[in-house]
Amino acid sequence: MKTKGTRASKVSLITLGCSKNLVDSENIITQLRANDYAVTHDQVADADIVIVNTCGFIDLAKEESVNTILECAELKKEGTIDKLYVTGCLSQRYKDDLEKEIPEVDAYFGTVELPSLLHTLQADYKHELIGERSITTPAHYAYMKISEGCNRTCSFCAIPLMRGKHVSKPIEQLVKEARHFARQGVKELILIAQELTYYGLDIYKKRALPELLEQLSAVDGIGWIRLHYAYPSKFPLDVIHTMSKHENICNYLDMPLQHASDRVLAAMRRQITQAETRELIKNIRNIIPGIAIRTTFLVGYPGETADDFEELCQFVRDMRFERVGVFQYSHEEDTNAYNFKDDVPAEVKEERAARIMEIQQEISLEKNQMLVGKEMKILVDRKEGDYFIGRTEFDSPEVDNEVLVSANDHFMRIGDFEQVRITDVHEYDLFAEPIR
Ligand code: SF4
Repeated sequence: MKTKGTRASKVSLITLGCSKNLVDSENIITQLRANDYAVTHDQVADADIVIVNTCGFIDLAKEESVNTILECAELKKEGTIDKLYVTGCLSQRYKDDLEKEIPEVDAYFGTVELPSLLHTLQADYKHELIGERSITTPAHYAYMKISEGCNRTCSFCAIPLMRGKHVSKPIEQLVKEARHFARQGVKELILIAQELTYYGLDIYKKRALPELLEQLSAVDGIGWIRLHYAYPSKFPLDVIHTMSKHENICNYLDMPLQHASDRVLAAMRRQITQAETRELIKNIRNIIPGIAIRTTFLVGYPGETADDFEELCQFVRDMRFERVGVFQYSHEEDTNAYNFKDDVPAEVKEERAARIMEIQQEISLEKNQMLVGKEMKILVDRKEGDYFIGRTEFDSPEVDNEVLVSANDHFMRIGDFEQVRITDVHEYDLFAEPIR
């Protein structure tokens, strides 16, 4: 019989969804470990208590979260685990329904209820640990959430329903966090937020991302700083000027554009037109030629016609983005778009998503071919089979290109920066050899 609810209990935390959820999990792990819990991440074996940190972003993500909760509920029924708790976005959004549908769960918590979760586990919330996290990514990179929530009103988006209004973390706190990471051996900081460019407007009454970047780039030991999720409307170009001044701020920007047809952009309430978007991309590329712009599009929005979609395809061909991802529209209750009919059939959404990725695949291959023979700096992420696998400053973990170096012919240390020469390329992979 396992020990129920005591400090000797082993906790397993399962994280679903995006990097922002991962950061929340890392905070939970730090707090629990400081309360003498043995905590593992994404490994249920041997656990007495399981916490599922859920995602509620779109249908597929919700389904995955519900299935994971159900699997853990089974483990509880069998007596393999003693307690099951659920936190995160899905739980924030559908707490009442979940309590009725899956009563095997001992308690559900929202996205800002860490103190209650800890209290239920008889653990204290340790304020002095704010800014410290047990990272679950490889030791050389860490995600850093610079704000929570979003004040925008994009019609399709359920995030503000789950994460609330925009709240920026103060610069001093983030710098302290970055120093702590650097001392732990982190070399790359990946800044994330629902909407990066809004940073500071709430607490400093001005956009303060450039100032934050200046201070983070001065932290010893941080070799790369990377920016994820900028909103294009009224994008502050100061951010790109700051990027251009500091070698350790990657020439990389992830800016979801969602669409290119003015009709769809207006319906999505994105506060920008295609002409303005084209102008913005041109300006960014003028300031930093060679910057990698990553974007994502949303296809199958209510009322998206074949013409709207063709316009989007042409935009992708013209703009030749370095990195592209595509989501299919998911009809989310309580969003503004839910008032419209979800009238693009599922198979059309799928075809449209595939078509964008086909166009991009060709562009990606052409852009990669231009790199053959070039010298580049990589950060070595891992060894897999016969290869060391790393990334350039133009690539973020898990979503972008990777650089493969033969492990049979060369040795590299995981977490080191290395100079390499690109010898061959595929659509999304580069092959290289070290220059020593
Ligand atoms: S900016 Fe992003 S997170 Fe905010 S409402 Fe729009 S899509 Fe959602």
